[in-house]
Amino acid sequence: MFTQDTLEKAIRIQQLGYKMLMWFADEVDQHRISLAAIHDNTSPREAILDWLKTFYDYMPSYLLPRRAELTEFSNYFASYLTSSFDLKEEPGMQLAGQGGCFCNLCIRLTNASHLKAKKPQKLDKREAMDKRIAIIGALAQEISSPISHKTAEALANSSQYLRDVAYLAYAKSLLERISGSEGGVYALVLWRQFAWKPEGSPIRGFELSAADILAAEEKVKAAIFQSE
Ligand SMILES: [Zn+2]
Repeated sequence: MFTQDTLEKAIRIQQLGYKMLMWFADEVDQHRISLAAIHDNTSPREAILDWLKTFYDYMPSYLLPRRAELTEFSNYFASYLTSSFDLKEEPGMQLAGQGGCFCNLCIRLTNASHLKAKKPQKLDKREAMDKRIAIIGALAQEISSPISHKTAEALANSSQYLRDVAYLAYAKSLLERISGSEGGVYALVLWRQFAWKPEGSPIRGFELSAADILAAEEKVKAAIFQSE
């Protein structure tokens, strides 16, 4: 289902997204950045791409996506900003973007240091479960080992496999977001199912890795194979 190369690229883009956000927050707070455009008819990913193309040569090199990956990075970064974060209403928060733009993106970037992770709701958890079941179905098809919805659901929720399945569903959603899908809060739910401890705090030093995703894929394939 996944290849090492595709996963490594996706992980590189995902990790850069986090660094880029931290940098934006700092630059905006120090008034060193300008978001001058108004984005009436522009999607967040187009706006990010325009911005990066304009400022590419002026940005610190550790932050730069490869030129050939600018579109993919912009797709991911827009999805990350709009589907993972809400604004904290607190003193210092700006109601419009710095350049007077009210789009989702400018408001978030202008307030980058006032962002907080979205709080997943029941519906988001349900969607995360649907994504876990769907990835089991796709894997079963790939290895020609048919599986019923009921068995797939049991596997997707079992304490033995939930973490691995969440890992795979997240990797799939990461690839989709890089290709331009908007994503959703379910990605945050999936992330917490493998990068957080079951008691609800982040695993210290956790890093997304292609090798771990590929290992999870093998483990889940074996479980599907043995399931019926
Ligand atoms: Zn805007």
